Amino acid sequence: MERFDLNMPIKRVRGVGEARAKLFAKLGINTALDLLRHFPRAYEDLNEIRFIRELRENEEALIRARVVVPASGRYIRRDMTVFTAVAEDPTGRIKITIFNRKYTAEALEYGKEFLFRGKVEFDRGVLCMSSPEVLPVNKAGGLRALYSLTNGLTHNIVSNCVKNVLDAVGDGIEDLLPADVRAENGLAPAAKCYRAIHFPKDYNDMNVARRRFVFEELYLFQLGLQMIKGRNRGLTGTPMSDADITPFTRSLPFELTDAQKRAADEITADMRGSRPMQRLLQGDVGSGKTAVAAAAMYFARENGYQSVLMAPTEILAAQHFQTLRGFFEPLGVSVELLTGSTPAAKKRDIKARLAEGSVEMLVSTHAVIPDDTVFRSLGLAITDEQHRFGVRQRAALAEKSRSPHVLIMSATPIPRTLALIMYGDLDISVLDSLPRGRGKISTYAVDGTYRTRIFSFIKNNVDVGRQAYLVCPLVEENDELDAASAKQYYEQLVQGVFRGYTVGLVYGKMPPREKDATMKAFSEGKISILISTTVIEVGVDVPNANVMVIENAERYGLSQLHQLRGRIGRGKWDSYCVLISDQESAAERLRFMAKTSDGFKIAEKDLELRGPGDLIGKRQHGLPEFEIADIERDMNVFYDTLACAKKTFEDDPQLRKPENAPLRDWIKRMFSRTP
Ligand code: ADP
Ligand code: MG
Repeated sequence: MERFDLNMPIKRVRGVGEARAKLFAKLGINTALDLLRHFPRAYEDLNEIRFIRELRENEEALIRARVVVPASGRYIRRDMTVFTAVAEDPTGRIKITIFNRKYTAEALEYGKEFLFRGKVEFDRGVLCMSSPEVLPVNKAGGLRALYSLTNGLTHNIVSNCVKNVLDAVGDGIEDLLPADVRAENGLAPAAKCYRAIHFPKDYNDMNVARRRFVFEELYLFQLGLQMIKGRNRGLTGTPMSDADITPFTRSLPFELTDAQKRAADEITADMRGSRPMQRLLQGDVGSGKTAVAAAAMYFARENGYQSVLMAPTEILAAQHFQTLRGFFEPLGVSVELLTGSTPAAKKRDIKARLAEGSVEMLVSTHAVIPDDTVFRSLGLAITDEQHRFGVRQRAALAEKSRSPHVLIMSATPIPRTLALIMYGDLDISVLDSLPRGRGKISTYAVDGTYRTRIFSFIKNNVDVGRQAYLVCPLVEENDELDAASAKQYYEQLVQGVFRGYTVGLVYGKMPPREKDATMKAFSEGKISILISTTVIEVGVDVPNANVMVIENAERYGLSQLHQLRGRIGRGKWDSYCVLISDQESAAERLRFMAKTSDGFKIAEKDLELRGPGDLIGKRQHGLPEFEIADIERDMNVFYDTLACAKKTFEDDPQLRKPENAPLRDWIKRMFSRTP
């Protein structure tokens, strides 16, 4: 018999023609294997049969009933026939209506019993199920797979096609997982699991299959991360040796914290190593990442290499530039700033001096680097606030660059478990303590009745020379409506309580030039009160600001509130964060914020309350998209795969052994998918 090839086009699967192949393509299903890997998104329990008497309007229900009045059809217009039948169970009767599906309707013969699944309605006082699914009674008692569908496909169609593939292929399905991995982790063979995941006998059967596929996916993902991490082994083009950074540390106006020293040691050790550094520097806002970055830049410079520090916005780049120039000019190091708004002539000049090597350190934005900028000898690239970068994007970048040392700074504290998934391809340094000598931040969770008092409190602080942030009551930045309501809120305050004060407004949709101008005025102290949406979240440093008021605080995740709060408490004054919310349900969360300042604790809590997607921001979270694994649910499997992947990797780092070839091919596909 000819062997069934799982890679053959879906069109050649029995039950699939041109039209259905197109529908499947919409779901990303192009081959027979894709179809098998179109895992059910849920299961319907066909044990849960309800009695007609118990049905409530508008609920979805499954009933088992015998036809007492067979279907009869009636045209209601061209192309539309309605069939009506009546069915009963021992507790009552129900009307069944079916639109157009002639064959389904005609099967409803007198005395025959069926399962009906659909929404319960009342049609002029009569209990009714409109357009239900009609299933033979022998389906009762099992679990039925439910799939993500597209218009024109039903669960039954998908099921039947899957069944045709499974019948054709028999147990001739190649197992991706090596036999010893399966044995050691108690995983069932692929062929059996494909059948069980689509047609489970019971929950246990389904869970055994699901665990196998989750394991497979997370294990392969781990292996992929290890390969990315190991790829550049021995390839550094910028070998460095030990250098003395004490001239830099001695010149600082403060002493580095122990955490900073530790991180700097880890970084310089990497840079002396034979392979390019790929390290994440994680630290809460205000933990002093910039000084650590500067130490690394100085180390590169002492080794004769240039370095670049990239920020996500022009404001942040300008701020970093100020800081670095402050650090380095006294030491005779040349630092330049290159952004989109640098005048053309200056740009040319800086680029020329970068190419010739007389600019030793550059501060820039992601938008400007890396285009046509040429360095004479770039040894270190640092990116700030880059947590929104996914692992696949990093993989692609690593492929392109000629591997200088790379340091990524993130101010989002991420629980260790999550960091392993998001940054498993990186080494991690953590700044887990804040520099001393700052004013303390007190946080209060209050309701709207305090608003007047809070506004006076802002004025009192501004009157003695401080500045304040006021975060608007908004759902989403980047939205016309919100822009309008932000403006309205601003107008109201400017003409009301804050009359006579200098007040600025920034929001997401604003033209960048205006936004930058306002932010600049605020950081220069020309504006006292800044009203904004959450755009200020991204790393602005105004030490003179000591009050932050957040309206509708319930709308933000704990981590986001923490980020916002990090804008204050940067100077020597005591600072105050006030969370306003009238929502009783949010009170506990907000009280937690009021008593906790540790970003990692807050992140753990957020993970617990809202799951990882929310924690790092839905849209740009940089988390890989898994086919079946759900890191909220499958953390325990994830731990199992860590150890297992490590073992495989140590045994065969490049997966060159023949038994590992399928793994290698699969990983390639996994990491080339768009993020
Ligand atoms: P972040 O980690 O949020 O980027 P920064 O690098 O901006 O933090 O540092 C925040 C503030 O703390 C800066 O004003 C910086 O000068 C100051 N700072 C950094 N390290 C120390 C230290 N060891 N002692 C005192 N102040 C420090
Ligand atoms: Mg910073």
